Parts: sequence; C-alpha cells; structure tokens
Amino acid sequence: MELVFLGTGSATPTFERNVAALACKREREVLLFDCGEGTQHQIIRSPLKRSRIRKILITHLHGDHFYGLIGLLTSFQLNKREEPLQIFGPPGIAEYVRFMKRISETDFNYPLKIHELTIGKEPQTILETTEYWLEAVRVRHRIYTLAYSLVEKLRPGRLNAALAAELGIPEGPERRLLKEGRDITLKDGRIISSGDLVTPPLPGRKIVYITDSTYTTASVDLARKADILIHESTYDNDDRKNARRTQHSTVSDAVQVAREAGVRDLILTHVSSRYLNRGNVIQEQLEQELPGAVLAADLMRVVIPASGRPEIIYRARNSSRPSRKNEKDMCAMRKPEQ
Ligand SMILES: [Zn+2]
Ligand SMILES: [Zn+2]
Repeated sequence: MELVFLGTGSATPTFERNVAALACKREREVLLFDCGEGTQHQIIRSPLKRSRIRKILITHLHGDHFYGLIGLLTSFQLNKREEPLQIFGPPGIAEYVRFMKRISETDFNYPLKIHELTIGKEPQTILETTEYWLEAVRVRHRIYTLAYSLVEKLRPGRLNAALAAELGIPEGPERRLLKEGRDITLKDGRIISSGDLVTPPLPGRKIVYITDSTYTTASVDLARKADILIHESTYDNDDRKNARRTQHSTVSDAVQVAREAGVRDLILTHVSSRYLNRGNVIQEQLEQELPGAVLAADLMRVVIPASGRPEIIYRARNSSRPSRKNEKDMCAMRKPEQ
C-alpha cells in the first residue's frame, strides 16, 4: 500500500504546496481523498495512473477540497474510461456534478455512482468490499465535513513458492486454497497442510484522513488504533486563535487526536500559506510534541509494507519539477541580454 500526498496546502495553491488531495494506492486500485484544483497536474508528476482511480472521497465542499473534481471526471470521459467510478461526499456533491455537466453540455459514459452521505458523530461503514471497509464520521468544521478511514480485513499469509514448487504443487487453485488456509489433497494422494507452506494471516492496515476539522472526539473514535493518521494542521500552536475562529487544528490538536486514538504514525497536512516563508515552524513544534511524526510535503510518498515500518520517499519518480539549482539556471537563461 502506498500513500501519495498530491496536495498538502490549504485554501490557495502556492509554489510549495497544492491544495488538498491524497491518493492511496492498494493492489490495483487508487482511492483519492479530496480533489482540489490542480490535482490532475500533481497526479501527472506522481507515479500514479489516473485510470486506476476507482473511488473518490470528498470531505467537504470548501473549494480547496473539490474544485479539481469536475476536471478529473471530464478527463476520464475524454480518455474513454469504461471502469466504474464511485464518489462519496457530503450532500450537494451530486448537484455540483450535475450542474457542471449541464452547463458544459458534457455527459459521462462510464458508470458513475455518487453517494451523498449524511453521517453523525458515530463512525459508520459506507462501503464493504472483500478486502476492506470504508468508514466515515462527521467532524467539526465551519460547514458539514466528513473524515474517512480505510480499514483492511485480515489478509492471507504468504505462500512459500519455492517449497510449493519443490513439493510439486501446481500453480492455480491448489495454491489459492493453501493461501486461504485450507489443507489440500494432491492427485497422488499426498495431503498438504496449509500451515506448512503459508505464514499466518497478516493483520489489515488502517489509514485515517481527517481534514478540515478542529479537535473532536469523533476524530478520536474514527482514528482508533490506526496505523497512519493523516490530520490537518492548518496553523501552528501560536495561531490557536485563528484555528478556533476558522474551526481548524493546530499541531497540538492533531497530536491530541493521535495520542488519544493510540495511532502508530501521525502525518500532518493542510498547512496554511502563511508558513511559506517562515521556516518549518510546524515541523519543529511537531518534533517537540511527538517525535517521529511527519509534516507532509507535496509528492511525498509513504510506502506501507504488509508488515513492518512505513518508508517515506520525498520525491515522486516521475516528478518533472526542476530542482532548485535548475530553476536558477532557467531564470538565468531567461534574462534579457544586456
Ligand atoms: Zn481546506
Ligand atoms: Zn474547509
């Protein structure tokens, strides 16, 4: 599983941070949390394939979280998408898509299902697949806002393929049954025990996405025992007044949710543009309060293995963004001749 931070800023895009979007790649699908303006550009700079997006979960209808949605849906149409797409979001999201389609005289031929959610302060399952649950809860912000979690079910253990080959177990249904924990009888009568070839089932991973919100116990309930909590920190601790006024979080608010919920790793996002030239105030406060927690950067990737610690990769594979040195060179090249 891999998280790709497509936009980690709040309100307006800056050179450093685009507005909100986070992709979660698992198996062959991508789940997209929020889709601020410019998200498609960020996807192009990342290793993600746009066509793999199967589910889009919008937290709330502030522009920095969904103004990129209609562009993305239109690109799917232009690319002749056929795979179904599901969108989850607050009431109003379906009307927005309908309105934009109507005035631009556009239609989408791929199967599109929009789920408008009205959920209270108790986390609720909004979708169950064979491999995971998606849950949502109402958090506390200026307008109706949802937070989401992805909770994997127990995953099958790993098959020792070399030993299976040595024992002459053919590829196909026999190996699948073993992976499911069942013993099999081969054609020659030998009984093979699953436990001899397959490791015990792996616990599922839990990822939680909370933005925008001030501290609320609903967040703690949703984030309980998560492997990774992605939480907003629009403001630093010295800007508590603004955080309260606009119903956003400070570093301390996010850390409080993480501690009370007993999460393993905390990643902060949705940083105000006021910190653009003020050094890494938020990162420093975070270091002090919860060593090891991370402030996200645009195009940062977090690889979450089946077991063991997540690994952070700071630059996307396909990033075409010039390095600082190249930028300087390019500026120099553009200077008019004297
Ligand atoms: Zn926002
Ligand atoms: Zn907001």
